[in-house]
Amino acid sequence: MAGCKHLDQTRGFKMNYIQTRQLTQDTKQHLVNSLARCEQNFLKLPSSLHGFVNTDTIVEHTMSNHNVYDFRGYLSETKNTIFCPYCGNKMHVHGTYNTVLRHLPFGTTFSCVSFPKKRFKCPGCSHTEFQPVPFKAANHNITKELLAFVRDLLALGFTNKDVAQISGLGKNTVKEIDVARLRDEYTIDGTALKKPERQAKYIGIDEFKLHNGYKYATLIVDLETGHILWLAQGKKKSSVYGFIEHVGQEWIDNVEAVACDMNSDFQEAVDECCPYATVVFDYFHIMQNLNKKVISEIRKDEQKRLLEEGNHEDARVLKKSKYILMSSKETLMKRDEESTSGKVRHKGSLLFKTSDVKIGTAYLNRYEKLISNNKLLFTCDLIKEKLKNAYKLRDGIKMAEEIIDVMNLCVTTNNIHLRWFAKILDKNFEGIVAHADYPISNGKVEGINNKIKTLRRQGYGYPDDEYFFLKLFDISRKKYVRNTKSHKICD
Ligand SMILES: [Zn+2]
Repeated sequence: MAGCKHLDQTRGFKMNYIQTRQLTQDTKQHLVNSLARCEQNFLKLPSSLHGFVNTDTIVEHTMSNHNVYDFRGYLSETKNTIFCPYCGNKMHVHGTYNTVLRHLPFGTTFSCVSFPKKRFKCPGCSHTEFQPVPFKAANHNITKELLAFVRDLLALGFTNKDVAQISGLGKNTVKEIDVARLRDEYTIDGTALKKPERQAKYIGIDEFKLHNGYKYATLIVDLETGHILWLAQGKKKSSVYGFIEHVGQEWIDNVEAVACDMNSDFQEAVDECCPYATVVFDYFHIMQNLNKKVISEIRKDEQKRLLEEGNHEDARVLKKSKYILMSSKETLMKRDEESTSGKVRHKGSLLFKTSDVKIGTAYLNRYEKLISNNKLLFTCDLIKEKLKNAYKLRDGIKMAEEIIDVMNLCVTTNNIHLRWFAKILDKNFEGIVAHADYPISNGKVEGINNKIKTLRRQGYGYPDDEYFFLKLFDISRKKYVRNTKSHKICD
């Protein structure tokens, strides 16, 4: 008896299941039917699609495995008589073509609008033209609504690949829309760059590598806002002349200080063309010179010397130390904290003692050990510290004293690289000490350099410099906020 009851129960469940399933299928069918019949209140198009009358909506299943709402209808434009713009004759209807425009996605379902469009022909001069479609975006078979949506997504920082996925458009179309958006934003008529939004007081000039080091480009930044003001291929003086021509002499005359690298052509260009601006050689670049051209070279020389002397152990210690020697103590401490909190780093970790790693002083300890074992590297460390402190000073005379101290220190080592460093400090003394009056830095450019790398990874770089440059202008600007104003779409 108990078995029978059990069977009944099972049957009950089964019936229930079948009924529920039937219901779901019915609902689905009902939905499809509703769409097919296009019930008055079901899924209407946004009211802004003026000029379109939706008569029928069906769900289509595409080859690429997507559901697409096909909003069918007609253009409400009733003007049947149009006149030839060339000879004034009344034009005839010369045929009707079915037109499909991609429209906004509804969640994950893409959509399109389809309608017949008339073609007119002039009996006089044979000129033909299509019936105008008020909601079609220029240059693309998409609605203005979809264009505005795609531009919004791009301005928000979604990658082209993301936008293609969300909108259902092809990657090339997305790119074309993005280029047009950026041209609207940063150029006049798509050709000349717009002038800076504001007068800058301090600007930074720097260079960066284009396309994995094949070419260089010059970058000019408003140091207060971080906005990129100018980008040009090459790293010559002419890039700066181009910028001055672009902003005008009056604008450049109101710039108080310019930060740049002392090993560049830029200073000369600024001296020539900007008589009122003070050139400042910033901390960021001084350190770059010291690290790349002095410490790195000394490390190589010392390693060679140790090997020649047969001191293989000390040479081995120096071998993988480039990163550690070129980092600031703050960076080393940060790395140590990270390794304590479990972040794994492989660079140079080969030489760490495990006890060091546990207490999180491995990098710093190794650095201390490196400099205490080597007199030259110890002096470099001292120079680093002294420069750091000198660049904190706001008194020109005190800063000058500190820099002279550093120069003397370099000379007394009698090392070729340090003597070179003393020489360039001497040569660029004025611009270095100017930092006390104008404590500006090109450090922001380093942030931009990281963005450049990200962009290149995402494939915006080579071979299209114009797009890449416009994209850089865009990411240096403030974050985009949606729906703050009505978005103007340029036809
Ligand atoms: Zn005509």
